[in-house]
Amino acid sequence: MEIRALGCYGSELPGYRLTGYLLNRMALLDAGTVTSVLSLDQQKQIDYVFVTHPHLDHIRDLSLLADNLIGRRKKPLLVVGIPQVLNEIKAHLLNNSIWPDFTLIPNIHKPVLMLHPILPEEPTRFGKLTVTAFEVNHTVPAVGYLVSDGESSLFFTGDTGPLGNVWTGLAKAKDLRAVLIESSFPNELKELARVSGHLTPAMAGKEIEKLARGDVKYLITHIKSPHLKRMQKELTDLQVRSLHVMGQGEEIAL
Ligand SMILES: [Zn+2]
Ligand SMILES: [Zn+2]
Repeated sequence: MEIRALGCYGSELPGYRLTGYLLNRMALLDAGTVTSVLSLDQQKQIDYVFVTHPHLDHIRDLSLLADNLIGRRKKPLLVVGIPQVLNEIKAHLLNNSIWPDFTLIPNIHKPVLMLHPILPEEPTRFGKLTVTAFEVNHTVPAVGYLVSDGESSLFFTGDTGPLGNVWTGLAKAKDLRAVLIESSFPNELKELARVSGHLTPAMAGKEIEKLARGDVKYLITHIKSPHLKRMQKELTDLQVRSLHVMGQGEEIAL
């Protein structure tokens, strides 16, 4: 599987873009950053967007992507998520007030976007990808995704605090090559991390211990950019051999 970080930060500053990962050039994990990075031709090739939760830093470019794609694709772009998350997007973003309802544009038979609900822990096929949502711990309904393309698989936590059963579910995934795990705030701000449903480097280290797999890469995502330097040091201090802080624009083949 090829993964490209269109944006990998938890807050936006010049040179630091919000969360959006392109998989095999045809699917997105979250859509915080899409349209400012991909050409129109590349945007047209995206068939699926797997949305972890409805926070703006994860869905912002869904609106702008829909606008760019109108009349340019034969099939609707599928926006995939658990029902609670899709309902929030429909009610608060595609509500004909903040933004037009692109699930009805240009018409209901051939819309630009189609919302496609999936249930947690039920593997579902999307083209060559098999995708399973796992509920995670955030301040709003949120999931992480296990994505497999038949050759390798990847787990993306999205935004989350400490996890329980998810790691047990992943322990069996034989072809798991990487875990994209969030870490948002430095250790000193652990109380803020706790109340906002995020992880510090020390907390992420504990999650990595729970999964206890030495055969996967741990890719750190969603760092709040103003804290980047300090957090890079705190993450290095964890001394996890296969840990890597994602860099913007970085492409990794799993
Ligand atoms: Zn976020
Ligand atoms: Zn969030």
